[in-house]
Order: sequence, then structure tokens, then C-alpha cells
Amino acid sequence: MEKWIYKIESPELDNQTCLFHETLFHNANGYIGIRACPEEGYPEDYQTIRGTYINGFYDLVEVKHAEKLYGFISEKQAMINVADTQTIEVYLDGERFSPFAGEVLAHQRWLDLKAGTTGRSVYWRSPQGKEVKISVTRMASHELRNLFVIDYQIESINFSGEVRIVSKHQGLVHNFFDANDPRVADERRDHLVPASGEIREGASVLVSDTARSQLQVASAVQNVLTSHAADFSTELTGHLAVSTALLEVEKGERIRLVKYSVFADSIRAADCKKEAISALERALSQPIDYWYERQREIMAALWDQTRIEIDGDPENALALRYNIYQLFQSAGRDHFGNVPAKGLSGEGYEGHYFWDTEIYIQPFFILNFPEIAKELLSYRYRILDAAREHARIMGHRQGALYAWRTIAGSECSGYYPSGSAQYHINGAVAWSLLLYYFTTDDWDFMVEKGAEILIETARLWLDVGHFHAGKFHIHAVSGPDEYTCVVNNNFYTNLSAQNNLRWAAKIYRQLQDAGLAEELTRRIGVTEQEIAEFERAAENMYLPYDEKLGIHAQDDSFLTKPVWDLENTPEDKFPLLLNFHPLYLYRYQVLKQADTVLAYFLYGDRLEEEVMRRSYDYYEKITTHDSSLSACVYSIVAAQLGLIDKAAYYFGDSAKLDLLDTHGNTKDGLHTANLGGSYMAVVFGFGGLRIREDRIDFNPQVPPGWTGYHFQIRYRGRKILVDVNQDRCHFTLTEGVPLLIHVRGQSYLLGDTLVV
Ligand code: BGC
Repeated sequence: MEKWIYKIESPELDNQTCLFHETLFHNANGYIGIRACPEEGYPEDYQTIRGTYINGFYDLVEVKHAEKLYGFISEKQAMINVADTQTIEVYLDGERFSPFAGEVLAHQRWLDLKAGTTGRSVYWRSPQGKEVKISVTRMASHELRNLFVIDYQIESINFSGEVRIVSKHQGLVHNFFDANDPRVADERRDHLVPASGEIREGASVLVSDTARSQLQVASAVQNVLTSHAADFSTELTGHLAVSTALLEVEKGERIRLVKYSVFADSIRAADCKKEAISALERALSQPIDYWYERQREIMAALWDQTRIEIDGDPENALALRYNIYQLFQSAGRDHFGNVPAKGLSGEGYEGHYFWDTEIYIQPFFILNFPEIAKELLSYRYRILDAAREHARIMGHRQGALYAWRTIAGSECSGYYPSGSAQYHINGAVAWSLLLYYFTTDDWDFMVEKGAEILIETARLWLDVGHFHAGKFHIHAVSGPDEYTCVVNNNFYTNLSAQNNLRWAAKIYRQLQDAGLAEELTRRIGVTEQEIAEFERAAENMYLPYDEKLGIHAQDDSFLTKPVWDLENTPEDKFPLLLNFHPLYLYRYQVLKQADTVLAYFLYGDRLEEEVMRRSYDYYEKITTHDSSLSACVYSIVAAQLGLIDKAAYYFGDSAKLDLLDTHGNTKDGLHTANLGGSYMAVVFGFGGLRIREDRIDFNPQVPPGWTGYHFQIRYRGRKILVDVNQDRCHFTLTEGVPLLIHVRGQSYLLGDTLVV
């Protein structure tokens, strides 16, 4: 098996598979994302999600409620499809190329993880017997993030005659919608209004305004024939530019068209048209191989850093690399964007950012690319004002509450029980900020931005919760499990609030000691009494526990409900959310995803192992894993509890979730949280990595079926390579000065290498 190429031979061409592959082979670079739609298009009755997206670029959508209560949102942001530059039609003496007509003699699609490109090749015989090989390479450049390339080659096998190539640039596009799926847009909307279009030195330049958000996007396309002297002639009709070239080919000859598309937006550029033109000029100033080379270098840096490998299980190894590659493609590189729940691969969840970033995705970046992690945290800082405003709308007099789902900062969730009520997002932001701090020791970031986030999020808990019989209670919130909503004292939420409060106080005191608290006090008026209240609430946080079962209760009432009969629920009733009214689900003990069990991963070091083990057993039986955020957590915590077979089982579910489309909706985009989750299952699960305030721990185990694995992480200016096999665990300090590490509870000084 090829280690670095994920390939599908003879892919099916039915509509569902085509949609799925549009996601699987999309190209992105953290700024733009382009779905892998075939240049030639589909038969007319096929559905497609022919999208190109810009991270953080959105329009506003009006939200109507049948009964609009106070504070309900009246509009939301949606990531929009910005332009379609994918179309290339090929006519051989008038006969149009399409794998849906004639005969496909060979067909492959692949993703090259080292080249940073995707590819497709079709060996085709036309209905009239003309044979050609079409080979396409696509790339969203990581070096020049505005740039998307389609490198299109036509090799004539047995045909001599006229080849007409029609390449299109469509500025007026729409988003995908499905009225029956709550996870995508529900109706067709016009988000783009043409602003200008021109042909400029052969390039088409189209500019559109958004209908409501007052943003602007520009795209520019240049078609370059590198194999022939012929030129394209381009005509602009409305907001569609059509470029045509006519060529004569001989049998055995090859035509190569390089189609350059660039995108720019008004969030990041004062004049996005100018920006697009200059990006195009820059792209064209170098031969295409130059951009391929830069891409290879960036990919090499990705793999040199992560050094991820699974020995003895090549399929999972490749799946894991695929997942890491996709994470790298999906994450925003500036504080204007973040990581949409589906990355930049599709329109599921309308491009919104959730807690997924902080709990599931940030750990990968913190451990491998802290500079990206920092940008993702800076995004949270940038929207802190919006979070303050959201807190006021939700009735709180103080603090900040991050929106459950958002792009620009304000709440975009229309259904509050499994939306805004998930206050634990504040705890998630605090948790990842602290993981970043503990891992990088970036005190400057803490001083400039982090402390303010910690204090503002902590303040909110004081306003949400209350003291009752000496304990701090948090009522009427939802935990991660979206099949149990608006409850009192969700165990997970209370623990994350405790962590948030405790560290807000601790960091404030550290700032005081360093003489740096004044500036923050001036900015947000922190008082000594308030800090003491943080500490008192954290100390006295109420954590529901069931004496009889000896387990943590998910919330105050959870264990008093009847248990859902999962065994006798027919398979076609899953996911339950698409088949039962939410209120019906709320009355049962049934979980969409890890909740209490997730708390064990994040905050387990303060909890009793026996209780966690019993709880794990209990909750596992009633968890559907209908959410893709679940299996990876069950894997990590199984490993933490020494249940290695179980850990391996859940890892398998997580690693190939998208590659095998096990949730049946990968067509709407990748499950980005799970991509990060599968990485965490190796590093935090099998590797047993835990990073705390002042120590780093490993507890390595090898799951059955593997002979070993390795990975490399960055930690406080160092790089540590961890190489685990069935007998030994090798630690190598590949960069930086020696440090103390803990392995299975014992401390060791890691000089150059250490074998345990
Ligand atoms: C999950 C949430 C998650 C969201 C976006 C939902 O199905 O229940 O926890 O944040 O998807 O991925």
C-alpha cells in the first residue's frame, strides 16, 4: 500500500459517491477551500455541491421563528459559495468529454499527501471511439493562499483533429440547501450581487458584493496553455466569463492547460479587487512548478514536524495521515478565520465555528504548530466583545459568553436547547488557552490576550451559577450531549467552569506578582473580591455523584430517567436526532456523544479512577455516538483506564469515519473535530500524554494489532520524538534543552535519548 497517497481506483460514478468524493478530495489551505467537482460536470439529473469558500467570509441570513421570544436571534452568518472557477469542457471534433457517456477504460482519484495536491485521471473512449487520457492535478497553494490551480492535461491516444476547450468563471453562484436536513441551509438564497466584471490582459476579474453583510469578494482567472502557442479568447456575459481555445492535435500529442484562480475578500484587504489582481500577477510571475515545489516544502515541514506513524497497521496509518492533512488544510491562519466544523470542505453547519476547535482541533496545533494555535486563540480574542454582547442578550450582567456557533462572533444558533445553552463553550476556550500556555509557556500571549479571556469567561460563571447550601450550582444549561438539554448541574459543565474559574484567579494572581495586573484592571476592572469569588466558586463547585451506582451523574436528574432501549431501536432510526422529536429524547437516558466521559479526559487527574471506570461502563451502554465527536473520546478515556481493546475499537471508528463515510453525511463536509480526535486518540490515548501546569506525562501503551507507533510534539521550545513499541518506549529530544518528563508515573531526565 502507498504510504503517502490516498487513492481510489475505478471510483463509482453514482451521484452519492460523486458528492462524497467532492468532499474527500477537496483542496484547501486554511484560507480557501474548493470542493472536488469534476471540471466537465455531471449529467443533468445529478446533485452537486459545487462550492468554493473563504474562511471567515459570510453573508447574513434572516432567521424567522414561528414564535420569537426575547433574545432569540433574528439573523445569522453563513459561509457562502463565492465563485465557480472549476468548469473546463473539452470537445473532440465536437464530441464532448464526459465519463458519463462513452466508455471509461481506467479511472483513478487520489490525494498526494507529500505533494499537497489531488489528482484524477480518466482514460476515456468516446461514443464515436476517440480515445483520450485526461489527467488533472489540483492544488490550493499554501504558499500563496489566494491561489487555486487546475492543471489539466489531455493526451490524445488515437485521435487527430480539433480540440475545443471551454473554461468558465462563474461569479454568480448559490449555496447548497436541503429543507429536510437541519445540518445544512434550508432554502436557496441569493447571497451575491455582481459589482463589477472585466477582462484584463486575458484574465477575467469578477467582483461581487454580499447581499446583506456588506462584504466584497473578488476572483480572477487566467487560463494558460503551456503546451501550445494558441491563446484563449474570453467573453464576459453578465457575471460569467467564458474562455475558449481551439487547437489541432495529432494522435499521441498532449495538451496542457494551467488554470489559475485567485480569490480575495474585503475582510482582509481594503481593496479586494486590487488584491486579487496582484495575487494573480504574483502567481503568474513564476512557472507552475515553482508553486508545486513550495507546496512540497510546506508538506515536508508538516510531516517532519508530526512524524506520525503506526507500525503494523498501514491502513490506519494512512487514515491518520489523511486526517492530519485535512486538519492542516482546514485551519485558519489569521485571526479573521477559525476552523469550521466541516473545515473548508463543504457547507454542513454553514461554515460555523464551534467548541470543536478548542477541544478537538487545537490540541493538534498546540503540539505541532503553536503559531497556528495562537492565531486560532487570537480569533477568540477578536470576538471577545461579541461574546460580551451575547452574554448581555442572554441576561447576564457581567462576563462574556462565547456564541455556540458563529463566524463573526454573534450567536448563530436558532435552537437554544442544544445551542446557546451549551455554556461549556466558555470552559472549552479556557481549557485550550491553558493547554496552549502550559505547552508553549507563551506568557506574553497570556498577558496580552489570554488573561482577559480567562477572566471574562470566568465572570460569566459567577453570574450563571449560584451558591446553594454552601455549594456552587449551575442550572439550566446543556452539556455536550445534545440528547439531554437544559439541565441542572451538568457534571461536565461544572468541571469545566471550575477549571475556568480556578485558572482565571490563578493567572490574575500571577499577573499581580509580576506587576502586570494593573493594565488589565484598568481595561476590565477586576477586583480582589471578584477573584476571591472565583476561588470560592471553584472550591465549592457542586459535582453530581450517585452513591448507589458509584458513578458521576451526568446532571441532577439524568439518572432518574428511564433508560432508552438501544438494543431494540431499529437501525434505520439512527441518528436519533433525525427520527425523534428532541423533547422525546430529553426524557430518556440516551447520549448523542461523550459527556461525563469527556470530562474524564480533560479533568480526570482530579477524579477517582474506580468511579471513572464504573461511569465509563455505565455511559458507554447508553451512548449512540450519533455525533462524530464521540468515538475518539471513548477511545482516549478507554486507554486512560487501561481498557486497551476498547480504545483500539473506538480508534478504528474514529480514524476512518470520513474515509468510509460511516456517518453517511461526509458529502456535506469532513467531520473536522473527529479528524483532530483521531490524532488525539493516538497521542493522548495510546501515548497517554498529559500536559499540566508544570509537568508533562506519558503513559504509553500499544493497542492490539499494532507493533508500535511514533509521533513528535513540540513542548516549551523543544521537540520530543516518542517512539513506542511492544517492549520499549524511546524518547528523543530532537531539539532543545533537557527536561524532566514523567513516564508511567516515574520521573526521568530526558537528555538526548531515553529508553523506558
Ligand atoms: C455535536 C456538537 C458539535 C457540532 C458541530 C453536533 O452534532 O453534537 O457537539 O459541536 O455537531 O460539529
